Amino acid sequence: MGLLKDKFAIVTGAASARGLGKATAKAFADHGATIAILDLDAGAAEAAAADLGHGHIGLACNVVDKTACEAAVERLIEAWGRVDVLVNNAGITQPLKIMEIAPENYDAVTDVNLRGTLYMSQAVIPSMRAQKSGAIVNLSSVSAQRGGGIFGGPHYSAAKAGVLGLTKAMARELAPDNVRVNSICPGFIATDITAGKLSEAQHRMVLDGIPMGRAGEASDVAGCALFLASDLSAYCTGTEVDVNGGSLIH
Ligand code: NAD
Repeated sequence: MGLLKDKFAIVTGAASARGLGKATAKAFADHGATIAILDLDAGAAEAAAADLGHGHIGLACNVVDKTACEAAVERLIEAWGRVDVLVNNAGITQPLKIMEIAPENYDAVTDVNLRGTLYMSQAVIPSMRAQKSGAIVNLSSVSAQRGGGIFGGPHYSAAKAGVLGLTKAMARELAPDNVRVNSICPGFIATDITAGKLSEAQHRMVLDGIPMGRAGEASDVAGCALFLASDLSAYCTGTEVDVNGGSLIH
């Protein structure tokens, strides 16, 4: 299968071994894409890219740093000539209650999840516009839709709700240039973002709230990202797709 044959794709935050970004990068590579993994640590990003096979690139890029985002994309355009897909996956969360959120907590969580999505998108948009094609996929969360998910605090919900608004506004503005922008709202997916951080009772309570009766797998999210990145979703823009085992049917 080659849903992304001859396409060039950037996935941010994809160095985490069991994470959604790595699974997405792997699914894209399996479908013929050439991948750049952007993450905080150069060595980890390079190792993750090498895991995908030959010809993929790993780069250090803190998505909160606008200059770093621009430099990474410039380098990739030099190497590839174009960027077809951007997945804004880099994200962090913190399990805080409303009164516990200190200014630095607010800054950290809104910056990586929301500012990072804006900066990376701004870095790729000029070339996508010029080539009159592109797909941007943003990782939001069920936490944005239901006011708190499993783990993240209110600042995380707010940042991920911001991602939904940003997605829709970018989709509207970029549609005339055939650049599509969509978001994914994962529910409870077993990755390192929550690994070992939930008690047995919390874990049971989470599973009880999922009609499909299981936590999601990273590959469940990767499949959705592949759909949104490829021409299978050619007429979808501004959408938010739930990947949550039915936990928010409404
Ligand atoms: P993860 O913690 O496994 O991986 C996140 C990656 O982002 C890490 O490799 C980390 O180094 C990188 N990162 C953090 N800050 C960065 C920065 N400033 N610049 C570049 N990279 C940075 O997380 P995950 O579970 O794979 O989550 C991926 C995305 O999906 C996140 O945006 C998360 O909020 C979202 N999400 C996850 C779940 C879940 O249940 N796992 C649910 C809903 C949404």
